[in-house]
Amino acid sequence: MVARLPGIADALALVLARVRPLLPEDVSLAGATGRVLAADARAAVDLPPFDSSAMDGFAVRARDTPGRLQLVDHAAAGRPAARALEGGEAIAISTGAVIPAGADAVVPVERTERAGGDLVDVGGVTTGENRRSRGGDTRTGDLVAAAGARLRPPHIGALAATGVPLVSCTRRPRVAVLATGTELRAPGEPLGAGEIYESNTFLLRAQLESAGAEVVVLTPVADDELATGVALEAGLAADVLLTSGGVSVGEHDLVRRSLAGLGGEEVFWRVAVRPGKPIAFSVCRGTLVFGLPGNPVSALVGFELFVRPAILALQGATETGPAYLPGRLASGLRAGDERDELVRARARVEAAEVVLEPLSGQESHMIVRAAAANALVLLPRGAGELPVGATVRYLPI
Ligand code: AMP
Ligand code: MG
Repeated sequence: MVARLPGIADALALVLARVRPLLPEDVSLAGATGRVLAADARAAVDLPPFDSSAMDGFAVRARDTPGRLQLVDHAAAGRPAARALEGGEAIAISTGAVIPAGADAVVPVERTERAGGDLVDVGGVTTGENRRSRGGDTRTGDLVAAAGARLRPPHIGALAATGVPLVSCTRRPRVAVLATGTELRAPGEPLGAGEIYESNTFLLRAQLESAGAEVVVLTPVADDELATGVALEAGLAADVLLTSGGVSVGEHDLVRRSLAGLGGEEVFWRVAVRPGKPIAFSVCRGTLVFGLPGNPVSALVGFELFVRPAILALQGATETGPAYLPGRLASGLRAGDERDELVRARARVEAAEVVLEPLSGQESHMIVRAAAANALVLLPRGAGELPVGATVRYLPI
């Protein structure tokens, strides 16, 4: 009897059930892009902090307009007028300057004409026109970004504008990456007989950094039991350990056995997904350990389905994904019966819809073909024939 393998969603739930968010730390706003807020971030001031002009022009009382007014002062950004405005008067004002006391509107310079001396003819305005009200964007204490938000550039700008120099963010997960395989050589070294370039640690580092992790790449190990055990043990100092290779059924596949020897609890091994079926997930001495298959496309897909969500969950992110989007197939595909499949495709927008063009070269060693893809199209197992134009879900990559 072969037990039915967990599907993608079941396996992901098993992973997320083992994640405990890391502790918070204060982070300077300048280094906070991509970090996840551990607590709500609130405005330290009203924004704007005072009633200000939305235009270059003349501050007036709306009821005095249209008309000829006496120019009595100047207000610039950062340099308020020295006196209040009275009836029949105008104060020249620049964008962002404080609206003088007594004024209730600004006539844009385009709707004015100097009439000689200190006189200016202004067009008509209504009360409040071209005035930015104090607190119109946000009030002191209001929420700017909620706990669990992953900070994007607009959040950073908003927090700075509201006077917040530091934010409380969850610590970045420390992730160790270990490649296994006697055949692996570093790019740049000459290749001997039967050797290939080690690419997975480079791929995984790039993926991890985009998810907010701090990465330590360990020296790759040969398929040797002792060396594998020593390297795994070093990796257990991290919050998460990613291994590549050595989780299949061959006699040189040593990762699972070595990890069990170190006290690892295997949560699952193998998922009904293609590529990437032999993925293993364990918890060992508090470290989450993902045993990714060695084929580069399997590692890439396994990371997007299981590791990226775990890295985001460790940071306390509200949205951990994977966030699938809808699109239409540009050519027909057939779903398998046993496994969900992720097909590498090119997504493009056509008539306001995303059209997904499956790429040739779908084998799990074909990382160069996969590099031409910007989408992983999900073919749910048992879905049968999916004709041209069928609506499917895809993951942007
Ligand atoms: P394995 O999962 O160890 O059986 O490896 C499956 C395939 O992936 C084999 O062809 C390996 O040579 C290849 N492979 C394993 N690790 C890496 C790596 N770090 N970089 C590139 N290819 C790898
Ligand atoms: Mg191997």
